[in-house]
Amino acid sequence: MSKSNSNSKDFLRTIVEEDLKSGKYKEVVTRFPPEPNGFPHIGHAKSIVINFGIARDYHGHCNLRMDDTNPTKEDTKYVEALKDAVEWLGFDFDNNVHFTSDYFPKIYDYAIQLIKMGKAYVDSTNEEEMRELRGTVTEAGKRSKYADRSVEENLDLFERMKKGEFKDGEHVLRAKIDMSAANMKMRDPLLYRIRHAHHFRAGDAWSIYPMYDFAHCLADYIEGVSHSICTLEFENNRDIYNWVLDTLGLGSISPRPYQHEFARLGINYTVMSKRKLLELVEGGQVSGWDDPRLPTIAGYKRRGYTPESILNFCDGIGIAKANSMVDVAQLEFSIRDDLNTKVPRVLCVLDPLKVTIVNYEGSEEIEASYYPHDIPKEGSRKLPFSKEIYIERDDFMEHPPKGYFRLTPEQPVRLRHAYIITCKEVIKDANGKIVEIKAEYHPDSKSGSNDTSGIKVKSAIQWVDANEAKKVEVRLYDRLFKEEAPEGLEDINPDSLKVIKNALIEPAVIRDKPDERFQFERQGYFYADPIDYSDEHPVFNKIVGLKDSWGKKKKVTQSVSQTQAKKEQIDGEVVAMSEAQQALFDKYTSELGLNSEVANTLARDEKLSSFYEEALAVFNSPVALANIVSNDVARELKEKQVNELKFSAKQIAELIKMVDDKTISSKIAKQVFEEMTQTGKNPTQIVEDKGLVQISDPSKISPIIDEIIAKNPDNVAKFKAGNTKLLGFFVGQVLKATGGKANPKVVNELVARKLK
Ligand code: ATP
Ligand code: MG
Repeated sequence: MSKSNSNSKDFLRTIVEEDLKSGKYKEVVTRFPPEPNGFPHIGHAKSIVINFGIARDYHGHCNLRMDDTNPTKEDTKYVEALKDAVEWLGFDFDNNVHFTSDYFPKIYDYAIQLIKMGKAYVDSTNEEEMRELRGTVTEAGKRSKYADRSVEENLDLFERMKKGEFKDGEHVLRAKIDMSAANMKMRDPLLYRIRHAHHFRAGDAWSIYPMYDFAHCLADYIEGVSHSICTLEFENNRDIYNWVLDTLGLGSISPRPYQHEFARLGINYTVMSKRKLLELVEGGQVSGWDDPRLPTIAGYKRRGYTPESILNFCDGIGIAKANSMVDVAQLEFSIRDDLNTKVPRVLCVLDPLKVTIVNYEGSEEIEASYYPHDIPKEGSRKLPFSKEIYIERDDFMEHPPKGYFRLTPEQPVRLRHAYIITCKEVIKDANGKIVEIKAEYHPDSKSGSNDTSGIKVKSAIQWVDANEAKKVEVRLYDRLFKEEAPEGLEDINPDSLKVIKNALIEPAVIRDKPDERFQFERQGYFYADPIDYSDEHPVFNKIVGLKDSWGKKKKVTQSVSQTQAKKEQIDGEVVAMSEAQQALFDKYTSELGLNSEVANTLARDEKLSSFYEEALAVFNSPVALANIVSNDVARELKEKQVNELKFSAKQIAELIKMVDDKTISSKIAKQVFEEMTQTGKNPTQIVEDKGLVQISDPSKISPIIDEIIAKNPDNVAKFKAGNTKLLGFFVGQVLKATGGKANPKVVNELVARKLK
């Protein structure tokens, strides 16, 4: 998970390592200290990953602590949400939640101690006057006349504050530090205030509550925290943190905690603070804290994000010292990246258009793999096929523009996993709306090696059988705000939720439940809503599309005015290809066997297509090369020019050759590629240096599998009882145990055999 072993260690881990090496601390103790006044969001995830991640990496521990010093806004439901979030992300708080409120008596005693030392006083100036006396950045402040109260008087007043003898705001307890300090926070900061309010845990025991600046450092100290990691806005509070602990003499015997700051995570197209999120929840703009459009952990969880994708995202953005805004596209990339190889691919039609195949009689079932991916995985289902089917409405066009590759009166199309069909007749209603297509199928064109038809098609589209398909509700989510840096409710995206009530899905998805997450082919990734889903009324949430459609949409709208006429629809809105691009595209799809999506990416980008052709000249593996060039190389070329790349087309060919001849697995190839982008080393060299050669020898893999089977008796039992999904679990564990080096195909076969 955490890349603490990578050569670019973050600055927090550097500090922790130095402190351990110098013997300053025997054990690293961190804490994650949220205030339970709202549901945690992706920013908190970042903080969780840092605090729990550091504790885990250095064999220390991390406390989950509720910073519950403000009685009016806190609630146990938020405590539960925070516990859920930490657990869901895979961290362990030993089932022990700490609460600052549990330390109220101790914190009170420390306040008494400061008063006795003459370091704290009860101030009775009103708020306004207090503000005036504080001075400005350029002017020193003046100390309140109450600062001269005797220790006895202060003790008496403070005790009566506690007993509830005064009204809110009548007095405060302040530290006596320095009214002319350059750091304004040090100008006699408040330590306690009067609040006649019920506390969700402490009840009505207290009429005074400690301020963050006083409570936080003491809570850290009491828990034996070593590294108190917080966000940058607390930088100026660090002086108070140190003053309190040092003035009280804490840390003279055993070392005290120190505060370290990192940059807050900000994400575009959303708001993040709990206060603003609460407004959306209370204002009814969203359905609750777990609305899939919110950046809350509960929202991501409900939408279908995996914990892994969030962890990878947090690791990927690194830990910085300066605030910055991260593009939400990066988060979307990490969930796509996680699901791409994991989840089954199925057929679902969102906006059904009926097709009657006039020359087909009877019915059949077509065996189709759930995982037509690069990494082989067992699992398939039967697709019912008969005379009446549904296709996506926009996969047919009667008067298509140039560059439209799907079904038209002149152009046949392949039904994914099945036959090629040709349109014979278009049937319309009185308003001219197309209501049905009559088509013919080509019996000799069945997908795979059976296809002897010789018919050329430019794409394959999703479809479902009219009799067997299941009706499902599909919820399409888009960004909640239309502005990159939203300022208020006026920036809300009115189309952030679209509900489709009558989508149709192939029956195996509902009947066999091969997973909870799916790729609906050509549509995106979807998740069975954990709350509203039932077999009678299946509901799927769209997690994310297959591509970053926002980046694309923006570009299109910019160029749309000049190229209105050329605006065409291929997969969404895309500008038409030039003739040269079209020629390349045709060559890639018909001669080289690339799928239209990959061919489209390559053909449209001159840098990519020439890189691809250069690699192809070195090693002739068109599909594998096309995949790496259109994905990984393309990603690099987004930010760089070809001459800035550390690797060459020849080296990419060399890398793919190693995958092809099974020297390395495709998983390892990704790792090698990353290294190539960083160091520019030869792939062969990297594989040799790091010992990454694929393990295919069953006698080497077998013992590892035995061990994993022995360690997971529960899952073995479940598997034997019929939960075959767990095959993936075992295979995953073996791949993990070998650092991804085991040959997945061999592992698959061996595991299946052993679990029989
Ligand atoms: P918000 O303003 O969103 O309510 P907060 O800082 O008040 O956030 P807390 O509950 O006090 O929220 O935060 C708990 C921990 O999470 C703190 O250590 C805080 O620094 C950290 N944290 C909160 N928001 C972010 C963020 N956007 N990026 C990184 N860490 C964050
Ligand atoms: Mg806050």
